Amino acid sequence: MADCWIRCIECNQVAHITDYDRFPQYHCDRNLDEITEKPVDDTKRFMTQHINHRMEEITVIKNSFISEGRYGEPLNVSYREATNGKERFVIQEWREDVNSPLRYELIPGYIKTSFRLEVQSDEIRRQMNEEIAHLPLAAVKIEQFIKIVEKVVSRSPMRDAIEITAESDTPLDAYCKMDANSVRGILRLSEGVFDAKEMRKVEQFIYRNNNFNDSMTLLLKRSFDVKKRHPEPLKSDKEQSLFDEAVAKRSNR
Ligand SMILES: [Zn+2]
Repeated sequence: MADCWIRCIECNQVAHITDYDRFPQYHCDRNLDEITEKPVDDTKRFMTQHINHRMEEITVIKNSFISEGRYGEPLNVSYREATNGKERFVIQEWREDVNSPLRYELIPGYIKTSFRLEVQSDEIRRQMNEEIAHLPLAAVKIEQFIKIVEKVVSRSPMRDAIEITAESDTPLDAYCKMDANSVRGILRLSEGVFDAKEMRKVEQFIYRNNNFNDSMTLLLKRSFDVKKRHPEPLKSDKEQSLFDEAVAKRSNR
């Protein structure tokens, strides 16, 4: 199946060439109670518009897809990075309305992504209240424990090996496992709060709730900016490789 991106170098416009372009679109007219066929061939239209212009193929950078909205929303504006081997581009993709074909704009530049990790404090509070509320001074200790978790997470550097354990309904949020170093740090500081018997329960609590999107997993929050022009070289910087790695672990969307 054909799937490539062609850029008109002179007009800086882009077309997504897929077999799908040649399929007709169907429109349902509720007033007339009939379905009409509207043949479209975006490829042909693009090639006609840019006849005799210089063109090149551009390659979309793997896993660069990002969007503000939830997956599957038809009116989302989304972005992906592409390159012709020399320059970086951002392809912006959107629809005017649900029946319109996808439209693309080619922006010379790149997508700058940043991350932060958030502790699910409310979830920890709720889950601990369910599991260890019988401890003496439970409410106070739970609050102290949450403060310890927040402190350890805020001090731990963003590691290269983020293990995504669950997706959310947007490309911007995901859940990741609390790493072993952070768990050790939390346990060490918790010794000042809990006695030996309680510590065993706290340790079990951490391991039991550090999967999927459970309370001890961290919320990985991404944000992004489309940066026009490309002051950065093609070679990805550290943050970008971290992003690639994080995204590579997600299912193929
Ligand atoms: Zn052109």
